[in-house]
Amino acid sequence: MADFDAIIVGSGCAGPIAAYELAKAGKTVLVVERGNFAGAKNMTGGRIYAHSIKKVFPNFEEEAPVERRITRERISLMAPDSNFTFDFTSNQMEVEGQDSYSVLRGPFDQWLASKAEEAGAEYIYGIGVQQLVKDESGKVCGIRAEDDEITAEVTILCDGVNSVLAHQAVDFSQLSTSQVAVGIKQVFALPADVITNRVLAASDTEGTSWLFAGDATKGLFGGGFMYTNRNSISLGIVAGIEAVASGIYPISQMMEDFKAHPDIAALIKGGEMVEHSGHMVPEGGLNSMPPLVGDGVMLAGDSAMMCVNLGYVVRGMDYAIAAGQMAGQAAVRAIDKGDTSVTGLQCYVDMLKDSFVLKDFEKFSNAPTFMGGFNRMFEAYPTMIGNIMNGMFVIDGQPICHVRDIVKTEMKEIGVFNLLKDARGALKAL
Ligand SMILES: Cc1cc2nc3c(=O)[nH]c(=O)nc-3n(C[C@H](O)[C@H](O)[C@H](O)COP(=O)(O)OP(=O)(O)OC[C@H]3O[C@@H](n4cnc5c(N)ncnc54)[C@H](O)[C@@H]3O)c2cc1C
Repeated sequence: MADFDAIIVGSGCAGPIAAYELAKAGKTVLVVERGNFAGAKNMTGGRIYAHSIKKVFPNFEEEAPVERRITRERISLMAPDSNFTFDFTSNQMEVEGQDSYSVLRGPFDQWLASKAEEAGAEYIYGIGVQQLVKDESGKVCGIRAEDDEITAEVTILCDGVNSVLAHQAVDFSQLSTSQVAVGIKQVFALPADVITNRVLAASDTEGTSWLFAGDATKGLFGGGFMYTNRNSISLGIVAGIEAVASGIYPISQMMEDFKAHPDIAALIKGGEMVEHSGHMVPEGGLNSMPPLVGDGVMLAGDSAMMCVNLGYVVRGMDYAIAAGQMAGQAAVRAIDKGDTSVTGLQCYVDMLKDSFVLKDFEKFSNAPTFMGGFNRMFEAYPTMIGNIMNGMFVIDGQPICHVRDIVKTEMKEIGVFNLLKDARGALKAL
């Protein structure tokens, strides 16, 4: 008999939810987390869309350590000497189930883990699982961590983007550099009312998400982000590893220049940097996903590449939570039926296919390739928009031009064919 019904590797977003579902159903569950506490090694931008976690904890925002409800969206096309910003507010963002919140992963992940522990899951912290244990038929039947071997009917890998276990579990080759990005983030402490005033929020519990394309990554594939927390601002850069490796700018320099841009400098002025972190981001989409189940094993969240960056929206946490919930429920079903083989666990894939998770990834399967080749978005378009706006708003006593002439000149610079090609590509992929 196995030591546990289920073992979960990793306690980020997916892991504790899978553990919660199993424990709630009366199964014995062990969660092994390499950090000394949940969230110790985790990082996100970050805003969590609430819909999927509300399916697990309906009033989660009342008890979870969320920072601010996001009620303002900004997207900027940033050139070195200008910044064009779309600014959007809508009461739709306040509707129950359509709401989203900024979070800091230290406190947030500890809260998630506490919910799994309260439901009865056992936790071991500070141990990284190095190896999966398999029986003579090749079925995963547990884990090896340090000198211990612990067995389970089902093992669920929720160990994030840099999984050392995924290729042992299923047929999954090493990710290519075009399928992952690198992110760095700094958190600046500021008084709540200063943040509220700087982002024009209605109160100290409401805030802004702000994404940047263009000069934030020095014209390379990627972007900048800003999220307001209650008493701090999260600021960072995500850039394609391939682009960074082939470019002349280290990401640390991008971050320094980003902070020095007048719009950003004004935002964090007087703030004290209280956190600096780095993490990888899976960006390959559906085409980079490993098989989601193997004999005795399932993958959920970033370990299964369930993260999407469409330029205007970044999502991973809500997918990880939904997948964690479905993995936990599927494991319960398979254990009860006495079949935790790849066939018995197939119900997990079926649930994902029936849900927004795999439907989204299927719909946006071309987005990573399109975004990776959309070079003009990161330099030419921010410059073009900046020039058009300068043409409209900078008055120096010289005869002014018609807007149509300013636009025509700038469009010629890029080429009408290129503009049409990009518009068509964007409409197809996004
Ligand atoms: C810079 C950046 C910005 C982002 N912005 C957003 C955003 O705004 N909104 C959004 O929804 N998503 C965002 N994401 C993506 C999001 O953070 C991830 O998709 C999400 O955290 C995935 O959750 P997870 O549980 O799968 O993995 P993780 O949260 O990475 O958790 C994995 C856990 O497994 C543990 N672990 C790893 N290996 C082992 C091992 N061998 N043994 C034991 N434990 C192990 C880790 O310590 C960690 O606790 C962002 C990501 C980055 C890097």
